[in-house]
Amino acid sequence: MSKIRVLKFGGTSVGAPERMRQVARLISRDDHPKIVVLSALSGTTNCLVSIGESWKALKPTEVEQQIETLYDHYLNFINELLSKERTAGKTVIDEHFDQIRKLTAVSFNRSSNRELLAQGELMSTKLFTLYLREIEKDAQLIPALEVVSTDENGEPDIDLISARIKRKIGDSSNKSLFITQGYICRNHLGEIDNLKRGGSDYTASLLGAAVNAKAVEIWTDIDGMHNNDPRIVPDTYPLKELSFDEAAELAYFGAKILHPNTIWPAKKYNIPVKLLNTMAPQARGTVISSVSTPGSIKAVAAKDGIIAIKIKSSRMLLAYGFMRRIFEIFEQFKVPIDMITTSEVAVSLTIDDDENLDAVVDALKRYGEVAIDKNMTIVCIVGDLISEEIGLIKKVLRSIGDQPVRMISYGGSRNNISILIPTKSKKEVLLSLNRGLFAPEEIPAQNSQHN
Ligand code: ASP
Ligand code: MG
Repeated sequence: MSKIRVLKFGGTSVGAPERMRQVARLISRDDHPKIVVLSALSGTTNCLVSIGESWKALKPTEVEQQIETLYDHYLNFINELLSKERTAGKTVIDEHFDQIRKLTAVSFNRSSNRELLAQGELMSTKLFTLYLREIEKDAQLIPALEVVSTDENGEPDIDLISARIKRKIGDSSNKSLFITQGYICRNHLGEIDNLKRGGSDYTASLLGAAVNAKAVEIWTDIDGMHNNDPRIVPDTYPLKELSFDEAAELAYFGAKILHPNTIWPAKKYNIPVKLLNTMAPQARGTVISSVSTPGSIKAVAAKDGIIAIKIKSSRMLLAYGFMRRIFEIFEQFKVPIDMITTSEVAVSLTIDDDENLDAVVDALKRYGEVAIDKNMTIVCIVGDLISEEIGLIKKVLRSIGDQPVRMISYGGSRNNISILIPTKSKKEVLLSLNRGLFAPEEIPAQNSQHN
């Protein structure tokens, strides 16, 4: 069997019957072996989250209303998608909605809530498989709950996943098309769990690593990763190539197209990740691989909801151990730190999760004065920024002009310059960086005109 490819289709790519048919056409273009990973139909997971919230808040009427609205949506969906298999489709949705009603009829608990959240992917994959049967396309459904699992720390074990998926594929050695659910998994207790919102991309790269795939293809409704935020900046363009490290920085710092965890399994097993557009399947999209182009600024991304914390201590002067004590506090409260800058008497750092902020601040006060700035944005400039390439920093700062800057971090890796600004100046900063870094004459010809 030639090397298998893993193709992941997101919620909007399967969110309407016509889109789902388009996915079936897309995967039927050739007979090469494929694992197809599907998200839930668009809007479903949000709706299940909201049902879970109403359930937790003891609002049974709201729970019921939302379930019925979602059920009607699925009923319309199968009526439009299926004909020969319509009865089978109705059985699928009835079974899953019965389960949803049963789960929410008793008192709320987190484990049942996770089972509730899993229903979207379970239904989308079953309905898609029925549609394939209807068009007489041979495919095998592989339950992700029998393949993908996480350990006590919520980390997936690729060796285990690899053994399981290979066995499943081996059991159906006459097939070359496999369908499975993104996002859902089992945790170390054997309970139904998930890989966090947007986690279907992560499933795809875990499976890609597990089968040593030829490539992992992430099919969405945009034509790849762009050089700047297309929601804010006009005339952005899709990037032809990115290295794993550059893509990881962009995914983490705001490029919504890819779940940030997607990159590490692909990088570790050197599997190229392609970002492709269901609406324009011929477009080349973005290829993420181990190849990088030194000395170039590739893209800018922005991440909102950042909190800056400054700890100022006179005792830091010529002292050692200060940083360790500060970092231990963040470790104790399990708060990840994004950016750090230091001076001789103070350290500033950023976090994006305020759940334990008060506790962290109280603990930090033992070591000095603490000041907090909320509503901040990290703007991240990504590329292969070798330090010998003089002028990069100058170019960045010149482009930002007289916009206010709270922190700058450069040199932490060769892939990133991070700048912390107030969120209210984000639009201006992204636009000025765009003018300064990607002036039209600097747009590489092959990128400005993707086919
Ligand atoms: N359906 C899940 C979500 O909406 C997972 C995914 O689509 O990647 O978060
Ligand atoms: Mg997504």
